[in-house]
Amino acid sequence: MTTTTNVRGGAWLTEETDAQTIFTPERLTDEHRMIARTAAEFMETEVVPAIEQLEKKDWTLARTLVRRCGELGLLGADVPEALGGVGLDKVSAVIVGEAVGRAASFATTFGAQTGLAITPLICFGTDAQKQKYVPGLVSGELVGAYALSESASGSDALGARARATRQLDGSYLLSGEKMWITNGGFADLYIVFAKVDGEQFTAFIVERAFPGVSTGNEEHKMGLHGSSTTPLILQEARVPAENVLGEIGKGHKVAFNVLNYGRFKLAAMCSGGARFAVAESARYAADRRQFGQPLASFGAIRHKLAEMTIREYAIEAMLYRTAGLIDGMLQGSHASDLVLASLEEFAIEASILKVASSEMIDFVLDENVQIHGGNGFVRDYAAERHYRDARVNRIFEGTNEINRMLIPGMLAKRAVKGTLPIIAAARALQDELLAPGFAEPAADEPFGAEHRAVAAMKKTSLMVLGTAMQTYGTELAEQQEILMTSADILIDTYAAESVLLRAATAGPSAAGGAEAHAAAARTFINDAAGRVDIAARSALAGMVEGDTLRTMLAALRRIMKVAPANTVALRRTVADAVAARKGYPFA
Ligand SMILES: Cc1cc2nc3c(=O)[nH]c(=O)nc-3n(C[C@H](O)[C@H](O)[C@H](O)COP(=O)(O)OP(=O)(O)OC[C@H]3O[C@@H](n4cnc5c(N)ncnc54)[C@H](O)[C@@H]3O)c2cc1C
Repeated sequence: MTTTTNVRGGAWLTEETDAQTIFTPERLTDEHRMIARTAAEFMETEVVPAIEQLEKKDWTLARTLVRRCGELGLLGADVPEALGGVGLDKVSAVIVGEAVGRAASFATTFGAQTGLAITPLICFGTDAQKQKYVPGLVSGELVGAYALSESASGSDALGARARATRQLDGSYLLSGEKMWITNGGFADLYIVFAKVDGEQFTAFIVERAFPGVSTGNEEHKMGLHGSSTTPLILQEARVPAENVLGEIGKGHKVAFNVLNYGRFKLAAMCSGGARFAVAESARYAADRRQFGQPLASFGAIRHKLAEMTIREYAIEAMLYRTAGLIDGMLQGSHASDLVLASLEEFAIEASILKVASSEMIDFVLDENVQIHGGNGFVRDYAAERHYRDARVNRIFEGTNEINRMLIPGMLAKRAVKGTLPIIAAARALQDELLAPGFAEPAADEPFGAEHRAVAAMKKTSLMVLGTAMQTYGTELAEQQEILMTSADILIDTYAAESVLLRAATAGPSAAGGAEAHAAAARTFINDAAGRVDIAARSALAGMVEGDTLRTMLAALRRIMKVAPANTVALRRTVADAVAARKGYPFA
């Protein structure tokens, strides 16, 4: 169990966080490390050798591997023991997700099973539904899938056309076609969303064996060839009344909360995938010689290896911090209502993680191809497949545009409701900035400059979000460009604080060494501060003008007076740690 105290989602924006209260990868317990070893060994010995065969769409093999995951307890790491799970914490689920992320197609199969099929049953199922379906899914005897999207309604999921018509005996006839369903080709049961009598959006548990249920052909995809993606066709499929999941007309609660958790788990997979890619790049760069030297000796390549590592470091810091926050709220409980409440509470962080991790891994895998040169562009090397496989991460589990809009949107809603003191903090900041002789925060050693930079980013976030709320009020949702830029600022702010808190508590025995942790954190924070500064200028200039804009930009200049770090030297330190490890140094 992690020991993080109960903290509210989004509270990091207005509150100081004590580094000792956050969970980091350096705080993993022996039990956590054992799970990591089990999952890593399974991937190494059973999944990686099977990738070629999975790419040929051998779904019998995919089922066998799901079953093996079940036997090893990987499908039910955070599922209560009473339902066949192992009953561990969310940190354990992150660890398993990271290990599985090494093989993207299988990770997608795994993610649909655990995040999208088991989670809704755990959170919304009746006791009878849980007893009937969860143990089979956790053991891997049953394969699950999640059928929300349709050809005309992806992001606009509530616009679904699938219809459920109530019958006299209480059962429902479901008609419609769901699209892009992961595990579609071989799942035994589907969590399906349809509108009762064309109006009430509702979730149903639909077995493949029910009459009227069939699946279409496999999609021809850019990547993830080892993961099944098909339409699900419902032709007056008869679903018994007891298979309604949650309440009639409350399907949106099921859909959105499941996606919150799916986003969080996707981030774990992206994190694990990136770690392996850093190792792949580091090994290749050490072995491949040009101009009589290994690629790994060139500054340009060392810069890439360092930057790939630093970006992954930031994702890990946010991921484990958030997992610790959720575990802090759950306090070891697996009660459905509390699990559901924790998914809602940390929905902002889940969206931040989804966007940041999917963009991080695309960057890392793009650089992985680049480091492989021509070999990165041909199928003989895995770099090519990784690159194609990762692209969809920015599209599914809510596109990154939708998630970006959700981040400031959810914060603004909580501010208006009064559950987060954002409005008061934004007003206090305004007073502070207008006061003559506004004093910059004092620099405390160590990490004094970084503390200041993070404090500045938080103020800038508040300034931009506060101005957006004041300027647009209830019309804020219409200002997508402002929301997107605000999201970028908020993502960088949460990430920068998370790396600072992580590096500040990484002792000399931390993997990679405290010096490399500090170098990674300093580089990330320096660059994030630069990005936040530019984004804030653009957002403010988009919202206000004239004297108001001039005053705000002057205030921004005072806030964001961040001393530049020597990131060339810092990246060299990180690159040395990568070279010494021939891989990601901080794990
Ligand atoms: C490999 C794969 C596996 C998948 N697995 C599943 C699954 O298991 N279950 C499932 O239900 N679905 C699944 N999906 C579907 C996936 O969730 C959707 O593709 C995704 O939600 C986006 O919907 P869409 O494709 O209709 O794009 P659209 O919604 O048409 O979006 C197209 C573009 O417009 C943007 N956009 C849309 N609306 C807005 C708006 N209001 N404001 C601004 N921009 C907007 C989007 O961000 C995007 O950039 C899968 C998809 C793929 C490719």
